Amino acid sequence: MSRARSVAVIGAGIAGLSCARALDDAGLTVTVFEKSRGTGGRMSTRRRDEAAWDHGAQYFTARDPEFRAQVDEWVRQGHAARWEPRVAVLGAGAQRDASEPPERFVGAPRMTSPAAHLAHGLTVLTEHTVARLEPDGEAWRIVTTEHGAHGAFDAIALANPSPQARRLLLPVSPALADSAASVTMQPCWAAMLRYESVISLPFDGAFINEGPLRWVARNSAKRGRTGAEAWVLHASAEWSLAHLEAAAEEAGPLLVEAFRALGAPQPAAWSAHRWRFSLAGTPLGVDCLWDPAVRVGACGDWVLGGRVEGAWLSGRHLARRIAGLRTPEGAPGR
Ligand SMILES: Cc1cc2nc3c(=O)[nH]c(=O)nc-3n(C[C@H](O)[C@H](O)[C@H](O)COP(=O)(O)OP(=O)(O)OC[C@H]3O[C@@H](n4cnc5c(N)ncnc54)[C@H](O)[C@@H]3O)c2cc1C
Repeated sequence: MSRARSVAVIGAGIAGLSCARALDDAGLTVTVFEKSRGTGGRMSTRRRDEAAWDHGAQYFTARDPEFRAQVDEWVRQGHAARWEPRVAVLGAGAQRDASEPPERFVGAPRMTSPAAHLAHGLTVLTEHTVARLEPDGEAWRIVTTEHGAHGAFDAIALANPSPQARRLLLPVSPALADSAASVTMQPCWAAMLRYESVISLPFDGAFINEGPLRWVARNSAKRGRTGAEAWVLHASAEWSLAHLEAAAEEAGPLLVEAFRALGAPQPAAWSAHRWRFSLAGTPLGVDCLWDPAVRVGACGDWVLGGRVEGAWLSGRHLARRIAGLRTPEGAPGR
């Protein structure tokens, strides 16, 4: 088969959208399939009762020059902003430096904003859960749970978490499915708290070294956030695993209690969300996965590592591989 012309991207998180945007820029026809109602994946924001919480990714770094250029553009256009919280490190145990990383960025006015910007002008089919990939001659058809078959596509880019990617890859590319199976994703319980007024704590974000919590943040202190005083609490991976099947009504109060033990008052309202897949345990550490025999590849944080930054970069690498493009330095994509 000659160069791919028509590509299906599975997942509208930052990896899938960075891949789709680069493919579109290269002149390919791209369709993005997303199972949820919106874009952004784990860079997500929940809104309720005039409050908003980035209950997944909290902030991102920009160390790689290519990603840094993208973030600078987002900042110029108002889709992202620097976040300079007062950060504390609390509790005994493994210590970390509160001044690291030196620069933190957030989506603005919400964490979903960079993804929404990337998605602008692309064909993104939300509420389309990809159930399987079906061969169609030398090409592929995408079968979705809600809307049947779509295609044909010359190439497929999977940009969903490793357990979900593995399931789709298994009948198609056992080697890539094995790679996906080797990366476990940690769970994370998140609690979202609303207060009637600004609460007095000596930090806007804190890493916590003991107890159920690992991170708390005053969401309403991020740039562009309006509305009520809102805090996000994240439980540790160990605690989240131990409470994986707990109901939100059970896990939420335990996290609120742990926050109160740090000196916070009782919130006016709270809700809790279980992320079954939050951070990749040990990412593969490669730019992207690509099986040339079947023209199927995968990208995301579990592939390259580096969380938001790595996911964005991995999507770009896979796009270059699919489009047969070269890297800006002139070297072929690895
Ligand atoms: C609680 C939490 C805290 C975090 N904190 C940080 C942080 O502070 N800094 C940081 O850099 N990163 C953080 N991360 C990680 C960061 O959010 C991810 O690394 C990054 O967003 C991954 O992007 P992605 O595009 O690879 O995957 P995702 O964002 O997971 O996107 C995958 C998309 O695929 C969709 N999908 C899955 N299966 C299918 C299917 N079958 N069909 C169609 N669509 C499908 C999903 O709905 C989702 O939208 C955090 C994540 C969580 C959950």
